[in-house]
Amino acid sequence: MLDDWAERGSPLLIGGRLVTGDRRFETIDPATEEVIGLAADATGDQLGEAIGAARRAFDESGWATDLGLRVRCLRQLRQALERHADELRALTIREAGAPRFLTYGAQLDQPVADLGWVADLAEDYAWTRDLGRAAPMGIASDRRVLREPAGVVAAITPWNFPHQINLAKLGPALAAGNTVVLKPAPDTPWCAAVLGRLAAEETDLPPGVVNVVTGRDHALGARLAADPRVDLVSFTGSTATGRAVMRGAAETLKKVFLELGGKSACVLLDDADLAKACAYAAFAAISHAGQGCALTTRLLVPRARHDEAVEITARTMARLGAGDPSDERTVCGPLISARQRERVEGYLKLAVAEGGSFATGGRRPDRDRGFWIEPTLITGLTNRARAAREEIFGPVLVVLPHDGDDDAVRIANDSPYGLSGAVHAGDPERARAVARRLRTGTVSVNGGIWYGPDVPFGGYKQSGVGREMGVAGFEEYLETKSIAEGTG
Ligand code: NAD
Repeated sequence: MLDDWAERGSPLLIGGRLVTGDRRFETIDPATEEVIGLAADATGDQLGEAIGAARRAFDESGWATDLGLRVRCLRQLRQALERHADELRALTIREAGAPRFLTYGAQLDQPVADLGWVADLAEDYAWTRDLGRAAPMGIASDRRVLREPAGVVAAITPWNFPHQINLAKLGPALAAGNTVVLKPAPDTPWCAAVLGRLAAEETDLPPGVVNVVTGRDHALGARLAADPRVDLVSFTGSTATGRAVMRGAAETLKKVFLELGGKSACVLLDDADLAKACAYAAFAAISHAGQGCALTTRLLVPRARHDEAVEITARTMARLGAGDPSDERTVCGPLISARQRERVEGYLKLAVAEGGSFATGGRRPDRDRGFWIEPTLITGLTNRARAAREEIFGPVLVVLPHDGDDDAVRIANDSPYGLSGAVHAGDPERARAVARRLRTGTVSVNGGIWYGPDVPFGGYKQSGVGREMGVAGFEEYLETKSIAEGTG
């Protein structure tokens, strides 16, 4: 399917048409710096056409009210993605630098399967709720509450988990009856363009219901968020960009749903199995080179066991190393771009200036090509240091000592973010008590995995507004209409 994209470029999907146009930009393999091929670089006018097509498809077609068609199209899209799974797996490894093992889960297979969950949810959902008869102000009325689609959805996504995030927006938005303009990050245009092509060629999705607009310029996202024809912005990306999206959407008071950054803590209590918990923390922090918003990037350890914890964690990180993402055994692949590597290196320098040192890593591995950083463990900082507070988005873990459960909770919550967290303890009740006190949207207790189609995911504080996935995620894409019918 992708063979002809290397030279001709991947197409946009606008109003049901696959459009290549003359403007293109390169998509790069971050492990080798090789050009994979070209992607369509949309103009502002093309974006405008896509929004117009989505608007018309919502206002003038039967999509919003034809639940059967929606469910069928979602199942077709899932089947199409499954038919092309081998090609998509290779693409995800190449374009996003995703380690192969993750493509069997959150990077590909899981979000594709999750389309089935969301189709089932839409089919069984209580679209109408009967509130029964009441007589407010003496007038007998039969009351019903209807759930209806929000309208045109702008889905703006980052590069780190392209299929997961594109599909976690597209699936529920379509199931709910919305039409969508998907604008992916410039680093992973093909992962989104594939969706457009499969939607156009292998499903019955009516023209304009799904539009995919790739481009190198971030301004496309800003225009999309601000366009008055868009009813809802579903955004995943950095907290700084989230603020800009909210500001842009404010002019027309659109509903804004934001999944943003994090600086999550992994808390080890003093009765934890240190060896197991530290190995877990090392693995979690460097998966996909630390380019996951919910990865735990601060490791809070009992002060008395600090050195032991550092030794085990550093040893595990060094053993895992950074490696070829196509290798089944690789946990930590490359960073997405030279720009991202610069950003991570900036934080490594800053950590040293702030008094930190590296228990392992802290530099580029010995490789000629690609955007690599060794898994890095930083010690000697306090939670006031910028390297301990700000999102680095690289394979970097900061160790912080704590003086007991209350102190650990205080440090974990002393963050502008509130996306995720983890707790390890011998006594599960103690672990649960700490989990309840963390001000975050998800918490893993003793290695539990919260990721799943039925599990709402999102952030407290500056990590976001709203929830993705689960019933709560589906309902983000719905409006509520109350109807009262006089019976007198
Ligand atoms: P980013 O914020 O730079 O870009 C995200 C998307 O927004 C891209 O498509 C980009 O083109 C677009 N964009 C840029 N400027 C814009 C503007 N002014 N208006 C509208 N759109 C604009 O993020 P990134 O570097 O692509 O991704 C990394 C960030 O994403 C990290 O901060 C990470 O924590 C976050 N993230 C959050 C979640 C979550 O669910 N909470 C998941 C994955 C990634």
